[in-house]
Amino acid sequence: MNASAPAIRLAVVGLGLIGGSLARALRDAGVVSEIAGYDRDPEQIRLALELGVIDRAGTDAADAVHGADVAVIAVPVLATAAAIAECKAGLGPDTILTDVGSTKQSVLDAVLSVFGDIPPRFVAAHPIAGTEKSGVAHAKADLFRKHRLILTPHPAQDAEALATVEALWAATGARVVKMDATRHDAIFAATSHLPHLLAYSFVDMLDQLEGADADIFPNAGGGFRDFTRIASSSPRMWHDILRANAQPVAELLRRQIDELSRLLAMIETDRWDEMRAVFERARAARERHLTRIE
Ligand code: NAP
Repeated sequence: MNASAPAIRLAVVGLGLIGGSLARALRDAGVVSEIAGYDRDPEQIRLALELGVIDRAGTDAADAVHGADVAVIAVPVLATAAAIAECKAGLGPDTILTDVGSTKQSVLDAVLSVFGDIPPRFVAAHPIAGTEKSGVAHAKADLFRKHRLILTPHPAQDAEALATVEALWAATGARVVKMDATRHDAIFAATSHLPHLLAYSFVDMLDQLEGADADIFPNAGGGFRDFTRIASSSPRMWHDILRANAQPVAELLRRQIDELSRLLAMIETDRWDEMRAVFERARAARERHLTRIE
């Protein structure tokens, strides 16, 4: 945003890692005049006030968004419809409503279910930044810097609302890109949703083995830590994401199961050169793409 642009009154509903980090980033960037907030967890509200993440807590979601220029919904994706319904009475005719959800078609469906259509001033957004930590205590002003922020404009999209949300994210240091919601969901099923499912499944399987062999986890090394970090993410959040994007994830999971079956067959039939060729291809692909991976 440029220095002469009027400061924005911001409201954040869902004072967790992402909502809190966005509030902190926009405050640091000097583009907001007031930040109001609401969370259904009173402890997150108390912490957000104590840490100076918000200036004012709403008595409910509608009260928090009342008078806001931009209202951000930052709740788990399957809570989106409920959170927007709770805000609805407080939204003014010019309020821009936006979100940060990790799935985009489900969010557009949620908005449709509350309003009966997608309001032109609703802007769907997804920051490609985060950690395995939840809650406002972990919110960081620089979380989005140099990371992608994806906007998925819809057919009724108001251009000025889209430009305002784009400028807010640019002020956090994010690199804004736009794409279709369906394409977004297919891409993130592959790069984020399936890896989380695999990491949870892998750790759960080892935990069941650990019942018989109690020395497995104490002997785990750096590779285990790297591969499983994301299994420390919020189960509630990932339940919602996988359920909201079930079909694209299921298609990829079937494909992954086929790939694993092929590897198993290579082991069982002593085809080690073929397995090594898979590893060579995968390493080359990772190195080729690494500079493009965020
Ligand atoms: P979080 O730290 O768990 O915070 C979400 C907060 O929203 C929780 O305090 C939750 O309270 C609250 N909430 C739930 N329903 C609500 C409602 N109806 N009204 C008000 N507050 C409500 O989650 P997060 O990591 O910030 O994720 C928020 C969103 O960002 C999700 O849609 C996620 O998909 C997306 N996202 C996350 C990441 C990441 O890495 N974490 C990255 C990009 C996008 P309860 O705990 O009581 O439910």
